[in-house]
Parts: sequence; C-alpha cells; structure tokens
Amino acid sequence: MQEVADLKVRIGLEVHCQLTSLKSKLFCGCSADYRQSEPNTHICPVCMGLPGTLPVVNRRAVEDAVLAALALNMEVSSRTLFYRKNYFYPDMPKNFQISQYDRAGGIPIAKNGYIKLDGGKIVRITRLQLEEDPGKLSYEGTIETSRVALVDYNRAGVALIEIVTEPDMNSPREARVFLQKLRSILEHLGISSGELEGSMRCDANISIESGTRVEIKNISSFKEAERALNFEITRQRNLLRKGMRIGRETRHWDETRRITISLRVKEEEEDYRYFPEPDLVPIVITSEQIENRKSAMPELPDRHKERLMAQYGIPLQNAEVLTENKALAEFFEECARKYNRPDLLSNWLVGDLLSYLYEMGLELRETKITPENVISMLKLIDCGTISGKIAKDVLKEMLLTGKSAEEIVEEKSMKRIADEEYLKQLTEKIFASNPGAVRDALRMEKAVRFLVGQLMKETCGKADPQLANIVIKERLKRLRDEESR
Ligand SMILES: [Zn+2]
Repeated sequence: MQEVADLKVRIGLEVHCQLTSLKSKLFCGCSADYRQSEPNTHICPVCMGLPGTLPVVNRRAVEDAVLAALALNMEVSSRTLFYRKNYFYPDMPKNFQISQYDRAGGIPIAKNGYIKLDGGKIVRITRLQLEEDPGKLSYEGTIETSRVALVDYNRAGVALIEIVTEPDMNSPREARVFLQKLRSILEHLGISSGELEGSMRCDANISIESGTRVEIKNISSFKEAERALNFEITRQRNLLRKGMRIGRETRHWDETRRITISLRVKEEEEDYRYFPEPDLVPIVITSEQIENRKSAMPELPDRHKERLMAQYGIPLQNAEVLTENKALAEFFEECARKYNRPDLLSNWLVGDLLSYLYEMGLELRETKITPENVISMLKLIDCGTISGKIAKDVLKEMLLTGKSAEEIVEEKSMKRIADEEYLKQLTEKIFASNPGAVRDALRMEKAVRFLVGQLMKETCGKADPQLANIVIKERLKRLRDEESR
C-alpha cells in the first residue's frame, strides 16, 4: 500500500480581490474607501437592497476586470451576465449577492487563462468574474463561542473580482507562490492593493489523491493561506492513516487558533437558487474595448523582472523576489537611482529587509523606512563608518523609527573607531588595485600623496589624515624592505 505521506495533494484556489483603486462600490455611489470609517457609514438604499432601488454597474469595475483578465492570459467574453446568488446570512443585507453564474454554462467576464510561476510551472485559471463583497461580521472571541455577531455593511457592495483556478497546485508552498504572483500582477496593473487589510482573501479546495474535496473558507489574507493549507493536509493525512474517510464538507479557518473547523456539509448548487439579475442588462464587451485595455497594459512582473536585471545588472533571484512585491521593487528603483551599487542594494532589500518585515509581520508601507535611509546606511558601510554586521541593527532600527542611519549610529555610539587596523585593511585593497601608483610612490612623494588621497576617499574623508599618511608610508616601507631583501 502506498504511504499516506506520498499521496499527491491537489489544491485549487478561489481568490477574492477588491478592486481597491475604484472610488465607489460596484452598483452604487457609496465610497469604497471604508477602512478608517465608523461602522455602517458607507451605506445607501441601493447597497442595503431597500425596495424600489436599482443597481447601476460601475463602468470602471468592468474595465479593471477586463484588464486583469488580459494580464492573466484569459479569453474575455463579448457578453456577460450578472446573477443573483441567494443565501441568508447576516452579512448580506439583500439576502442575495449580485455575482455571476459560477457553474458550467455560466458566462463570466473571462475564462481559460493561466499564470506562469517563476520556475515555469503553469497554474490554469478557470474563470474570472465580478461580484459584490458582503458586509463584515465581528465576533466576540471565536465564531463558535461568540454570543453576538456585530455587522458592518460598509464593505457590502464593494467590487470584487473572483479568480478561480484549476486544482493545479501540489503543495501549500506552491499555493503561496501562486498567490504572491497573482498579487504582484494585480498590483502592477494598479487595480488591487494587497497591502490593505482584507483586500485579498481566498478559499481553497484540497484533495489528497483522488479523495474527497474539502473546502476551506475564510482565509483572510494570502499570508494565512499556506498555514491553513498545511494544517488541513496534516488533518486529512492523519484521518487517512487511521483508515477513516474524509467527508465532503466546508471548513472554516480559525486564524486565532490556527486550525480548520467543520462549518457545514457542502451546499449544492440548488441551494443558492441562482437566477439572472433582472435589474441589470447584460454587459457587452466590444473588441474595441478589449484592444483599448490591451494598449493600456502596464509593465507586468515578468517584464519588470527582466528590466531590473538588464538595467541594474542584479541577479535573477533578486529580481524575482523584488518583483513579487511591487512596493519593494519600486523602493529598490528609487534607491538605485541615487546609489551606484545596485547589486549590493538588492542583496540588502531581498535579504535582511524582507526577513525583518516577515519577522515583524509588516508590509513595507507600514514601516517608517525611506529610500534615503537605506542609502545613508549603505554609504556608512562603504565608508567603513559601520560594519555590515552593525548595519543589520541599524536597518532594523530604521524600519521601526524612520531615523536616518547617521542619527542611529550617533545615538547608539555604533561608530567604528577610526582605528589603524581598519585603515591597514583598506590600504591592502588600495595597493592591490593601484599597482602603478604604488611603484611610483616608492620613488616619488607626489604618488604617495595620491595613495593617501585614495585612503581618505575610501573612508569618505573620515579617517584622520595624519594616521592615513603614516599607514601608507609604513606600508611602502615594508614593500621596500621586502624588495631589497
Ligand atoms: Zn451604497
């Protein structure tokens, strides 16, 4: 019998991304910028579904969805319909969600696309559709134990694109890589920003080797996805090891306890009583509109990656990591314009900076660091004022405080002593790279001054000139002694 651990895992994702660049909701004029607002202040009769109101489609939402579809290599439908998906749940003021028919026979905005992951793996995308976001429920503690559910409808009606993949991913890690790439594509398009809380969420379905499909709902961020999937795979494998069967069900990801819990047996399609939305006419997407969107296509991550490599000469791996995160790639380019060692810069950003962000659970935007800060830190290393090891601490401090590297170094007295040992090290470097000048210096005072000048330059003028003079002359003397021997 095959080992349970060897059984192949198949993961499909259903991703919901808010079109965060839109000013208003999908079917009404309410502001979509609700995050800092008091609950239930971004609502109107339309998004509350009061009798007598009619929805009107946000044109920009359709344009953005088409743009996303093209970037995901999809076929855009020339005519598409909205449907009502009926279900009763407190986060749904109308008791139905205006969505698109998501089963065979439905015509979403686009279908049949793919994303190519770094490394070449293809993940097929089944369809992309437009729908409205439900409101948001808050619980006291967990969904199981809370006595009350508070509802905030500010989010109800915000435009979402739903992107559904084939079950092409074979590990939680691969799912994470896919989500990162998708996020990066949408951010490059400028239509959805993953930095905003709750703007990118997903559901996942998992099956182990032709077994039953289990769905996990409520994965509130892409970061959580890998965690939720790892938990669920372990749970299913344990059941299989005990010879138990896996039931078809929907489970809820409990972020606090980091487990999945059973919510309900899976609804069948009939439960939603889908029918065409009678208040909205079909949307016609002409080939001119598609061409128009194609010509508005900005630089996407793959192209961006290639450009970073060509323009700045940084290695592939660094370019990949940078373009996974558009904000980081932009940050890199801003620094690189004012700092002439982009390879070194990219190492710091994809290495130490990213691992600090991960450690702190922060997005770059949420920290106080600026490109000027990073450049100031690198220059201090270049001048030998601080060592690379000290710079790691300086970088962390800059993320938290937004202070410049000089300020931090000054405050914490991290300055490297202008010591002789360090100047001697630099002198070795200078002698190795200026053999002609060294030969001249053995005979001419003028050339000695040149070497001292180089040493001062290496330390950005911070070395004690007298000490620099002594160190160079001593080195020349040693050279003479060696030669006369
Ligand atoms: Zn409204």
